[in-house]
Amino acid sequence: MRNDIALFSELCETLFQNEKEVPVAEPIPTSELYDRLDLSLNAEGCIDNDLKATLKAIIKSTPKTASRSFFNQLFGGRIGKATLGDLLAVMFNNSMYTYKVAGPQVGIEKQVIQNICALAGYHEESDGTFAPGGSMSNMMAMIMARDAKNEDIRAEGLTPKMTLYTSSASHYSISKNAALTGLGRNQVRLVDTNSKGEMLAEHLDELIQNDISNGYTPFFVNATAGTTVLGAFDDVESISKVCKRYGLWLHVDGAYCGGVIFSRNYKHLLSNLQLSDSFSVNAHKMLGTPLSCSIIVTQHKAQLHHSFSNEADYLYQTDGDDFNLGKTSMQCGRRNDALKIWTLWKSVGTLGLEKIVDKQFEMAQIARDYIKNNKDYTLYSFDDSISVCFNYKDIPAKDLCTALYEHSKLMVGFGSFNNDEFVRMVTINSVLEKEDVLAFFETLETFVAEKMLKISAT
Ligand SMILES: *Cc1c(COP(=O)(O)O)cnc(C)c1O
Repeated sequence: MRNDIALFSELCETLFQNEKEVPVAEPIPTSELYDRLDLSLNAEGCIDNDLKATLKAIIKSTPKTASRSFFNQLFGGRIGKATLGDLLAVMFNNSMYTYKVAGPQVGIEKQVIQNICALAGYHEESDGTFAPGGSMSNMMAMIMARDAKNEDIRAEGLTPKMTLYTSSASHYSISKNAALTGLGRNQVRLVDTNSKGEMLAEHLDELIQNDISNGYTPFFVNATAGTTVLGAFDDVESISKVCKRYGLWLHVDGAYCGGVIFSRNYKHLLSNLQLSDSFSVNAHKMLGTPLSCSIIVTQHKAQLHHSFSNEADYLYQTDGDDFNLGKTSMQCGRRNDALKIWTLWKSVGTLGLEKIVDKQFEMAQIARDYIKNNKDYTLYSFDDSISVCFNYKDIPAKDLCTALYEHSKLMVGFGSFNNDEFVRMVTINSVLEKEDVLAFFETLETFVAEKMLKISAT
């Protein structure tokens, strides 16, 4: 193992150097992938030096999500202490289901959950768990809501047509989860948003009334803290009033921007979170831990238990249920996703996490200011969002993003809202500084001047 750790250090050096020198890896067309890299698995093993050379080649071709040119997705960057925690978790290789096999790691997970409950404004008897990702956190919320509405479903299966509500700007996992849980995609009602992408509570009320009069059983509303494209925050208070009126479970999907609860400057974007029944946040997005680190908390501890526990004498042989985390999780064997966020939190404190979050808003503001001061750009997103959506010289966003990627210039994606398609520049990458944000625009403009305008002229 010590030799492998030494090799690991050497490979990390290769990675660091490579992501600095070639921040956007040259993309390999899928048709050439198996010719350009030796990915074959053979009867005979590979001697150490060949393995090292192959791994180095793979490192060079793998997209760099921690480089200063990565603006593509809702995660990015690399924070040393969080990565350290995750590496340690791999070395320990515990499974989080019982205290017997995970020991203090259970205490670490419980501590993170407790602190997040407190930051969410949840009461002291609240609880939660780590899910394999934000999509699965949303599924756990949907299942708790379903069982809270009708406790027989766990045993008998679904019977009545149950309806659920989420905005048209919400994440696709809501519809997918409706299909996976047997509730059915057609039972998902898409609530209209205003021009900023925030759910309209009046329309929600209308849809619910309509369903009730048609014999459906509404049970669940998903609000979003940071919609996937525009980064909009649904208003928890007005949505909660509707939920209370009809007895529906309110979940807040904070996978993208739920991290604002760590910031005194930005938590107002998610005010009244304490009115929700459950809340999820991806630490691998705003808090910058490695993938995956998704936490779901609920004010209904008993419901979490009812929906996810199963007796298993071969597994739960010691200690109280509160320390046997398998009683409230989706999986059986479960990797330790808590140690990375705990190590980071322990080392920088809540105030350090606040800085990480605040910086993303600062970087986005720098980008918006640049766009607003330059008439070649059109801005489509709004203040207080770390998604900066724009078009440049009316170039179709898809063409521009694809060309920038194929020429190894920048990794940035595109999105759409209503009938507009635009570049979506996300400033969540933890390594970004002001000069990187400005360099983004310079690279884009130079590229367009040198390449794209010429291509379109010929
Ligand atoms: C990213 C995201 C999800 C999904 O999270 P995964 O960890 O990728 O499964 C869900 N909801 C929102 C709003 C997101 O941005």
